Amino acid sequence: MRNETALYADVIIEISIEKLDRTFQYRIPEPLTDRAVPGSLVSVPFGKGNRTVLGYIVNITSKPEFDPEKTKDIAGIEDDNSRRPVSRLLYLAGWMKHHYGGTLVQSLKVVLPKKTPVRPVEKQIVRLSISGSDAGVYAAEFQKKHQVARLRLLTALMEAEAMDKRLITQKLGVGSPVIKALCDRGIARVERETSYRNPLAAGTGEGAQGLKGRRVMELTMDQQAVIDSILSRYDRRDIKPSLIHGVTGSGKTEVYIDIIEGIVRRGHQAIMLIPEISLTYQTVIRFTARFGDRVSFIHSKLSPGERYDQFLRAERGEIDVMIGPRSALFSPFPDLGIIVMDEEHETSYKSEKMPKYHARETAEKLAEISGAAFVMGSATPSVEAYQRAVSGRYCLYRMPERISGGTLPVVYTVDLRKELAEGNKSIFSGKLRLLMEDRLKRREQIMLFLNRRGYSSFVTCRKCGYVYKCPHCDVSLSLHRDKRLHCHYCGYSTPMAALCPECGSRYIGGMRAGTEQVENMVHRVFPEANTIRMDMDTTRKKGDYERILSAFSNEEADILIGTQMIVKGHDFPRVTLMGILAADMSLFSGDYRSAERTFQLLTQAAGRAGRGGAAGEVVIQTYSPDNYAVTAAARQDYPGFFEEEISYRNIGGYPPAGHMLQITVEDREERRAMSSAEDIAELGRGFMKGDPGLQLIGPADAAISKINDIYRKVLYAKSADYEVLAGLKDAVENDRMKRQDFSSRVEFDFDP
Ligand code: ADP
Ligand code: ZN
Ligand code: ZN
Repeated sequence: MRNETALYADVIIEISIEKLDRTFQYRIPEPLTDRAVPGSLVSVPFGKGNRTVLGYIVNITSKPEFDPEKTKDIAGIEDDNSRRPVSRLLYLAGWMKHHYGGTLVQSLKVVLPKKTPVRPVEKQIVRLSISGSDAGVYAAEFQKKHQVARLRLLTALMEAEAMDKRLITQKLGVGSPVIKALCDRGIARVERETSYRNPLAAGTGEGAQGLKGRRVMELTMDQQAVIDSILSRYDRRDIKPSLIHGVTGSGKTEVYIDIIEGIVRRGHQAIMLIPEISLTYQTVIRFTARFGDRVSFIHSKLSPGERYDQFLRAERGEIDVMIGPRSALFSPFPDLGIIVMDEEHETSYKSEKMPKYHARETAEKLAEISGAAFVMGSATPSVEAYQRAVSGRYCLYRMPERISGGTLPVVYTVDLRKELAEGNKSIFSGKLRLLMEDRLKRREQIMLFLNRRGYSSFVTCRKCGYVYKCPHCDVSLSLHRDKRLHCHYCGYSTPMAALCPECGSRYIGGMRAGTEQVENMVHRVFPEANTIRMDMDTTRKKGDYERILSAFSNEEADILIGTQMIVKGHDFPRVTLMGILAADMSLFSGDYRSAERTFQLLTQAAGRAGRGGAAGEVVIQTYSPDNYAVTAAARQDYPGFFEEEISYRNIGGYPPAGHMLQITVEDREERRAMSSAEDIAELGRGFMKGDPGLQLIGPADAAISKINDIYRKVLYAKSADYEVLAGLKDAVENDRMKRQDFSSRVEFDFDP
């Protein structure tokens, strides 16, 4: 006999196929009732053969859905997570499914990390053995002898006292011989400890008793004002999101740390989101110095076990601060008080897998349901975020000045059409070449940035600057292998002409220079220069990225040549010249964000030059010197750029003026891919009858029309109202469910 008080659990089965995206009810056997809570990972018998599968409990009820005698029992609970504050994350998963599409299981997998056992590892800690003033003497000595690596290690240890050896070799780029040299002279020592706890930060000597609370510098008035305002709003329970628009080097990170400290002192926890690429040793040191053992770092190189372990520490209250990329958002803190998002505009905040969630929107939702503050910061905010700040949905704070008071770089814009007219066909303009010679002579460093994004190749006339554009979508056309020009939104295509339609010149073609060609050109023109190249090819292996950066900061090369990887957030004080070889490459990448991306890249690249005191110079080479993204970046004028850009978005109905849903259909058979896409378009047209504001574009070939023999078709829907697009997405999913037709794969991407 089953007793009256039995409990039942609705379980989502962890098989990611759309057919099974519903809950199944199981009885919770008496011995498991304490541990079965929403969010628990359970094993259950499933199907006719009762094979054991995994699932998540999403709901617990005392009312059986079916005949209790026939309801199966949960076989076991896989993970003791009874104390996990899961209901919030489950709610978030439900919201993500609605907001971004896909199955509930896909969303649950994102928010609830699966338990994986961790093996304890032996960790080596390098600790400073001498006092700060003694260290200062050694630092002066290393400086004098130009022992750059020793100096870097010592300076880091002076700030953090102790550091994980792995961190030193990987992030600081300082090798074991240098560590040994410092130990041999009694400056530092290496300690061993067995730990499964914090993979990046070392213990700092302090116990786990709260904060270290050590800030060496005085805050500026700008910094203090932002901190005071956000904390006092928090105390008034005004948790409207905040956007800090502050130029690079204005002291934003210091502001984040102080605000987080304030929230932690109030007894709450903090999530600090950063793009993976800015998790440098400097970041680790600054947070470790302030929060000691009470901070954890996660990053993509962690094994699932190590990552889970960090989440467990958050759940158990062992840490107050979690730092990491977008997945850090799902740290199960008992009492979340704040989410901070640095470099808010970064593309890596958007997931590329279903559900294609954006960390900004998701964080805003999570903050709202947790009663937490949400603070974003950027030197070049996304158009979306700035629009919300201007319209009052976010609170806007400005930090317009650099801490060091450093002068902004001098920017020269070179018109490449004129260079060609004057007979210069090389990739270096006269101006850039002259400045490069000068820097090489003075032994100052140079960065050359090849602004190259994505796969597509636009076509331009090198004589007059003409660019082929889609007559329907106002984005540039891309040259495909079929020698035709295609629009990636609507599928419009036109043959590629041999002569420029504007001026009749022969100099029309795709832009296809790569970093390797640039390096070869540098060697030809400046045979005496040492170069390092950083791009996808040279950073394939683990540690490559750090190795290149530290080699360059150790001044092993005069010139660093690279793609956008080199412009993000690194300080090289000896760089006084930045050459941007072809600013246009991202300007015509064929999507509505291309001007925004170009402005961000150019602004950041320009900000790289002259950070060490000496004023820097920047050369922007372009075929479109009058384009507002180029001119605004040259002036370092964000508001000016924003005004132009938002009017363009308003006219085109592109986000944030309206919303856009990209639906991608994939199938091994091209015919079936197209017919599935047509079915969806048909459904959409039905929707349009009820809502004349809805716009449908396509289907057409996707920008990459075939990957691994899988054909890809794409449709776009536009509407001012997000919920209309979410409704269309639901209709597509329901229709497939009703017909049980899952032959083609369908993916949704909102505001792509
Ligand atoms: P951002 O995050 O805006 O780029 P940071 O917080 O990294 O700026 O600050 C830039 C540099 O200025 C860092 O080296 C930091 O240590 C230093 N800094 C920040 N605030 C102050 C301050 N109030 N006084 C002196 N130096 C500061
Ligand atoms: Zn032309
Ligand atoms: Zn088009």
